[in-house]
Amino acid sequence: ALKSIARRSDLKSYVEQTPQLNRLLRLTADRYVTGEHRKDGLKVGRKLVAKGYAVSIEYIGENTTVATECEAAALEMMALIHDLSQGGVPARVSFDLSHIGLSLDKELAFSHLMNLAEQAQEAGVELFISMEESSKTDDILSVYERAVSFYPNIGITLQAHLTRTPQDLAAIVASPSRIRIVKGAYQEPADCSIPRSSTLSDRYLELVESTIRQGHRVSIATHDEHIIEEVLERGWLSNSDVEFEMLYGIRPDLSSRLKAAGHPVRIYLTYGHQWFLYLCHRIAEYPPNLFQAVIDMVSN
Ligand code: FAD
Repeated sequence: ALKSIARRSDLKSYVEQTPQLNRLLRLTADRYVTGEHRKDGLKVGRKLVAKGYAVSIEYIGENTTVATECEAAALEMMALIHDLSQGGVPARVSFDLSHIGLSLDKELAFSHLMNLAEQAQEAGVELFISMEESSKTDDILSVYERAVSFYPNIGITLQAHLTRTPQDLAAIVASPSRIRIVKGAYQEPADCSIPRSSTLSDRYLELVESTIRQGHRVSIATHDEHIIEEVLERGWLSNSDVEFEMLYGIRPDLSSRLKAAGHPVRIYLTYGHQWFLYLCHRIAEYPPNLFQAVIDMVSN
């Protein structure tokens, strides 16, 4: 429900046009979003790299249904790739295909992706496709598979909570790219998904193991301490192609502890004027954040 709220343009404009509400929600969003502009993401990215983290950067946006807006998003990502290579920040650029056209026309998303991948390859930057609602999984995987056959610098995210994911993994392992495993942030129908549970954690670990066994580079993208402990116990981090990846502002104590212990940790940063949308995603996947937002509001 929170995600549909975030996508309602009337509510978005209401938040934008109500300065006090906007300011209060921004206080909470500031925990998870570096700022509205590219320079904000780059600034935080540079600081994290100097501390020894690897970095992913996302320009926030999804479900764009106007072609000129899809193009504007792709141009912003081009500029991000350019700035990363010029400023020497070794970061990965992550994004939703629905931000660059998937919700309008699959071919538009494919064409923007190909342009981005070409520029990123020349600049030595890695691209990473996020995974969205299950209604888009087939389209996302088919666009990814076509593009990665030209540009191996594109990675893909798979959601452990979808029951179809082991089959999807088996189908894409022929592509020589990096795979990010997440639990899944979207509310999905019960007949095609596994809720947060030990069954889901076991499924998550099976997917990671299978990805490593097949010689793939893998990002273990979770803040779940139980999964992280299992990964460490099983010695999977001794493989140089395996890393932990966590969202900016979530469990910074855990990411810094892992880094201090010498493990490779990547932090996923976001920036953009659609910070409200991103905030709703973070609250939806972890409802206690709603209380944090209220605490932020009453204490300011
Ligand atoms: P959980 O069991 O949900 O959480 C474990 C613990 O982490 C919680 O107990 C809590 O302490 C902490 N925690 C988790 N979430 C939050 C939060 N929002 N705020 C505060 N604390 C929290 N999902 C997609 O569907 N598609 C994607 O493309 C995608 N990309 C991602 C990329 C990265 C790098 C990461 C880290 C996550 C991504 N996600 C994506 C989100 C993911 O699916 C989960 O919703 C999210 O990671 C929370 O799940 P968890 O594995 O941390 O485990």
